[in-house]
Amino acid sequence: MTTTAPPIVPYVLAYSEELVPQRLTFREHRPSGGPRLEFVDPRRSDWVDGVLRARVRTHQRGSVRWKRLNTRRQWECLAKGWCQVCKRPAAQSDGRLPWLLTERVYQPIGEDRLGTTAPPTCRDCIPLSLQMCPQLSSAPLLCTVAAAEPVGVLGDLFRDGPDGEAIEAQRNVYVGWDEFARLTDVLAKLAVVELRDMRPEPLP
Ligand SMILES: [Zn+2]
Repeated sequence: MTTTAPPIVPYVLAYSEELVPQRLTFREHRPSGGPRLEFVDPRRSDWVDGVLRARVRTHQRGSVRWKRLNTRRQWECLAKGWCQVCKRPAAQSDGRLPWLLTERVYQPIGEDRLGTTAPPTCRDCIPLSLQMCPQLSSAPLLCTVAAAEPVGVLGDLFRDGPDGEAIEAQRNVYVGWDEFARLTDVLAKLAVVELRDMRPEPLP
């Protein structure tokens, strides 16, 4: 009988029991005016830099959702420059960050500009990621970047229905930090960054 080693679960992935229902509503806010999307039972921690962020647990219980990122861990990895696989700082000794990319993790953010929702991957985790991650099996690109600048969020847009009902209007849309009118109507699920000074490298 052969035994198979359990797969290494990247830190950033979501688990089934971390997902919670998002009970949303629109409420008027004065004096700024206009209805704004929020949770039925709002908490101060729902807001990150003025955008409403989807609620998730972070206890890593349940089954692994291999195609889904945990919102808070994804945000944390991008904000802190942590490796999405092992959670250690991904920066190299020269300060640059290694990044593994595929077409699937690019996010158009404007004319001739591309962002990404994928956090960095440290040097140590790159060979294993290339070997194990099915999404990296087609045309992966390895590069180093000077910085990752937050430019917006990927989320679901809602519109204001009767009695403040939040009606889903569009799923998985990019909303930039400068789109003030739409930022009040979005439930952010992932942070989006723009990579600065990308330098491609050969794959190991
Ligand atoms: Zn790593």
